[in-house]
Amino acid sequence: MKRQRNTKIVATLGPSSSTYDQIRALHEAGADVFRLNMSHGSHEEIAERHRIIRQVEADLDSPITILADLQGPKLRVGTFANGAEMLEQGASFRLDLDETDGTDKRVRLPHPEIFAALKPGSMLLVNDGKIRLKVEKCGPDYADCIVEIGGEISNRKGVNVPDVVLPLAALSEKDRKDLAFVCDLGVDWLALSFVQRAEDVAEARLLARGRAAIVAKIEKPAALKTFDDILAASDGIMVARGDLGVELPVHSVPPVQKRLIRACRAAAKPVIVATQMLESMIESPMPTRAEVSDVATAIYEGADAVMLSAESAAGKYPVEAVTTMNNVAISVESDPNYASILEASRHVERSTVADGIVLAARNLAETADVKAICCFTHSGTTAALVSRERPRLPILALTPLVSTARRLSLYWGVTCATTGEVDRFKMAVVNAARAARQLGFATPKDSIIVTAGVPFNQSGTTNILRVAPCEERLIFSIEPG
Ligand code: PGA
Ligand code: MN
Repeated sequence: MKRQRNTKIVATLGPSSSTYDQIRALHEAGADVFRLNMSHGSHEEIAERHRIIRQVEADLDSPITILADLQGPKLRVGTFANGAEMLEQGASFRLDLDETDGTDKRVRLPHPEIFAALKPGSMLLVNDGKIRLKVEKCGPDYADCIVEIGGEISNRKGVNVPDVVLPLAALSEKDRKDLAFVCDLGVDWLALSFVQRAEDVAEARLLARGRAAIVAKIEKPAALKTFDDILAASDGIMVARGDLGVELPVHSVPPVQKRLIRACRAAAKPVIVATQMLESMIESPMPTRAEVSDVATAIYEGADAVMLSAESAAGKYPVEAVTTMNNVAISVESDPNYASILEASRHVERSTVADGIVLAARNLAETADVKAICCFTHSGTTAALVSRERPRLPILALTPLVSTARRLSLYWGVTCATTGEVDRFKMAVVNAARAARQLGFATPKDSIIVTAGVPFNQSGTTNILRVAPCEERLIFSIEPG
């Protein structure tokens, strides 16, 4: 679907957005990508949302991206006899493997591998960091802690262990089941939570067997240490600020966000900025000034996508939240400063023919009166490289593969359309011109840029750049082949 902005919007689905009408309204308001959060909802609910998205896609005849987010090795305490307890600052509190219900003195932490990795002085954060426990003494089946910051602890609250690389499998038993389930349903991207090393991504890639591209969620300090390797192993990145802001001091998150966005752009891989972007809109139809400014900052930094979590999944104003993001993106992108900021951060090493073609397309877009850059692409690589250039013209990715079209919709500025297989360049130009006209990017009087690779239907062959007219009669009269 043609949008008035280049930055993409990811909307998480949940109870507030699970009917056909709700999902269609979110897409029409601006959601380009739907996130299925495997931490919530049964397989039946996930399958139903998936079915509805594909129905909306068919009804609007335009590719929609689905991202399935795996829960990852999220640690949780057990349950309490009273459901909840208050932990006072300075008190002692024990974590252990005992299966009986917890009290104000102890609770179960059913992860023996964590006890093996803890040391005196290690910090445990409970309930999104609201409670801080410092390990005093520990053994293979317990950790005696001092409550550094108190608060209410209740059944199955999450636990973070920021400064320890945990010897945890990247994918839990649940993650493996969920991965198989969503890959069978057919999703375009898989997001992996709590990635700690590049091997975690490799493991998921093996299981996905090419059925979905992989986003590594950066939410552990360990992942920042090995970020370059994780980026190399992944197809995209999510700046998962929720858990990241628990595992790191919260003021460390903005510089990390900036660094990750730049690294992803250099690697031509999409980056999503996530969590608490419009948090107050869970309850209110109006965002705060600070939230609007936060969304704007991510866009000025050059993020490919901004994400809504509870705002669209469980909030009272999901459509208003998408509309807010849409409006902020349009406003920022029309600021002349935006173009100059993106231009200033365009550091790219170029070494291949495709790099050269893409650079030429970008330069033509700046110099000539053309209306769109149309890329024929199989794997999506050419469109990703064009997206990295952040050109001032619309990017139209044309592909015979619906899976490529759906994946590419996450990238900055890329509008996707499927075309039939072409085997002659003249037909590629005809198809590009037709798509550009149909999507409203160009009229028959306009010209477009077409990139393609010959021989057709092979990945990695980009070797043609053409400035072509949009009028069919003209194409047939001047185009050779
Ligand atoms: P989550 O991931 O919503 O699955 O926790 C995003 C984040 O931590 O920011
Ligand atoms: Mn998270």
